[in-house]
Amino acid sequence: MTNSLYVHVPFCLRKCGYCGFYSMASPHPSLLDRFVHGVEAELALTVAPDASAPRDTVYLGGGTPSLLGVSRITRILHAVRQRQVLPPGAEVTLEVNPETITAAELDGYVMAGVNRVSIGVQSFSDRDLAFLGRVHDGKRAEAAVRAAVDCGIRVSLDLIYGLPGQSGDDVIEQLERAASTGVGHLSAYELTCEPGTPLAPVLAARTNDREDLFFLVHERLAGLGLTAYEVSSFARTPADRSMHNLATWAHQPYLGLGPAAHSFSGVAAGRASRCWNLPDLDAWLESLEHGHAPPRGHENLGPEQLLLERVMLGLRTTLGLDLEAIRADLGIDLGDPFAARLDELAAQGLLTLSPGAATTTLSGMALADRLAVDLTAHAHLNRLVEAESPRSSRLAPDT
Ligand code: SF4
Repeated sequence: MTNSLYVHVPFCLRKCGYCGFYSMASPHPSLLDRFVHGVEAELALTVAPDASAPRDTVYLGGGTPSLLGVSRITRILHAVRQRQVLPPGAEVTLEVNPETITAAELDGYVMAGVNRVSIGVQSFSDRDLAFLGRVHDGKRAEAAVRAAVDCGIRVSLDLIYGLPGQSGDDVIEQLERAASTGVGHLSAYELTCEPGTPLAPVLAARTNDREDLFFLVHERLAGLGLTAYEVSSFARTPADRSMHNLATWAHQPYLGLGPAAHSFSGVAAGRASRCWNLPDLDAWLESLEHGHAPPRGHENLGPEQLLLERVMLGLRTTLGLDLEAIRADLGIDLGDPFAARLDELAAQGLLTLSPGAATTTLSGMALADRLAVDLTAHAHLNRLVEAESPRSSRLAPDT
């Protein structure tokens, strides 16, 4: 089992025109200090001092966590280490933006225990970056990535494709420039906009052939030595893959700290729970400064919801669906109609089947979410096999 910790840092230099993540622009340094105190307090409230379960991955995301700077990130990681064992090989990722890091700061983050950075490049084209509302330019982005690679830590960069008017050749140029930096990992996302963001109306009028771009991105990156292990995630070798994301996609437990952060209990005998801090920095700070847990939402998940998530996540990755694990973890016998539907989808070239497993082809991966809904509609959820589940006796009713 992989045990993960996520810290949501809700600050950015300014808001990008497409972004729906919970973050606020231009925070005063005193607010950054209060935030770090809040993380320390939330950690103290949430994790017992003698907690023995190690944290295999720590992910500082946002927002723009590098806005906190080296000393505050050092304090957060120190607080984590005071309460949690980070075993040798634990993956500690920091999300950074090109405009907020220098080579000296990268050294400082490494000293603090960061061993992987994820850089929000999005594009090396100044025109694209201006359209997206990013603060950095292409030159700054490339310098930041090369400085991180030179640091000797694991480096991932994010790219966005599918901008209005962007041609296939434009996309290829971006991919080639990204690969030439020597990064071991790349995330390439199609541009989407949250409703209500400034770019949403512009995107509604977009005319690019988005399915073509998906195949073009996957094929070109494979040619550059970066192969997909998830719809939007590419790595040079298995060791370059994001352990944190792989654990999340496999329904492993994680603890989230910070406003808007989610936590997941892990799955036991077909049940799990998810909770989340409300996206309200003031309420989060005020609660913790008065010694209380921050306001939270909560949901219990049963086999039906977990199955849909497990199938969706499995079809989005090259790890595929582990049918035996689904049966053991969720206590579900998927039944003959599910198996027959797998056969039909394999005959259509969307899945590859092997004993106890199904994996999407690239064509199937492009349709992963739709296939997941289709497949789960063929599962016989009434055929529970809880008696066969090795973990059912340890199930707490609301976990
Ligand atoms: S830097 Fe990232 S988190 Fe911040 S506004 Fe831009 S896209 Fe959103």
